[in-house]
Amino acid sequence: MITVIAGGVGAARMLRALLQVIDSSEVTAIVNVGDDLELHGLRISPDLDTVTYTLADAINPETGWGLVNESWQARSMLEQYGGVSWFGLGDRDLGTHLYRTHRISEGADLTTVTAEIVSAWGLGLNVLPATCDRLRTMVTLASDDPSNDHFKSLTAGSEISFQEYFVQRHHSVPVSAVRFDGAESCQPGPGVIDAINDADLIVIAPSNPIVSIAPVLAVPGIRDALINRRNVVTAVSPIIAGAALKGPADRMMSELGHDASVLGVAALYKDFVSTLIIDSKDSRQKKAIQDLGLRCVVTETVMSKPGVSESLALTVLAGANL
Ligand code: GDP
Ligand code: CA
Repeated sequence: MITVIAGGVGAARMLRALLQVIDSSEVTAIVNVGDDLELHGLRISPDLDTVTYTLADAINPETGWGLVNESWQARSMLEQYGGVSWFGLGDRDLGTHLYRTHRISEGADLTTVTAEIVSAWGLGLNVLPATCDRLRTMVTLASDDPSNDHFKSLTAGSEISFQEYFVQRHHSVPVSAVRFDGAESCQPGPGVIDAINDADLIVIAPSNPIVSIAPVLAVPGIRDALINRRNVVTAVSPIIAGAALKGPADRMMSELGHDASVLGVAALYKDFVSTLIIDSKDSRQKKAIQDLGLRCVVTETVMSKPGVSESLALTVLAGANL
């Protein structure tokens, strides 16, 4: 069995690659829920949905989030009323959030509802939220955020939710801290610790280390469980030649005092990861990573390039001794 610690887009691509070479019944994803939000009374889990929609071949290929063949009638109505419309929810996507919200109001937990949604898309892998409890990634602004027509201005030191940072401000403001609200009191979701303890191989997907992987690790028990399995944990670096392929991972790492490089990723992960897979562009860093006590594998890791997904998946599996 293979267990993947997952955020959104980078993780979804890694999972899709693995499913090209291994049966889905062998794969469990433990997915970040720090990005989740409640909006319009609805329970929205962006990383869970990105993973599901991508693996179902239903993701919008242009945005990397949301559904393909989407329409936006509900958002037009919200705009007409002057309602909250900065977080884009397409009409088809709304169906997912209505279903999730309703099932939770009936007493189902997020793990059960996620399994129902994943199965309704015909997928055979096991997708587990890191926790069913409330966990929210909060971001502190490093500088004043000048007034803007669309949202209220804030001063340095103000704390905002992850989606107010990522979507509403297009992650264009510097941050001075990240906090996982609820982390002290939340419990790992059903099956999460077993999926770590029982795995033949654990993969840390190429996801944002600060706001996709760290919130999963912040759930009490998960980081320690990974440390115990360190010898079978392999990470794929989301940073290539000092930059993220997309999104703020590189900037966030520098702003929070880490090196925005494969070495910075290695330093953040070395307690619970024994093998780091880095891109060919970073081959010169291999020795420095080994000096930190990690095995280091150099290969092509940009999965949008033809043929790379499958070969990367095989490289990941090679460490597994399955
Ligand atoms: P989000 O939750 O949707 O923001 O996505 P993730 O946190 O899962 O992934 C974002 C990170 O994935 C970024 O840092 C990207 O650099 C990285 N990423 C996306 N696609 C790839 C890929 O094909 N290869 C590698 N190595 N990293 C990727
Ligand atoms: Ca995310």
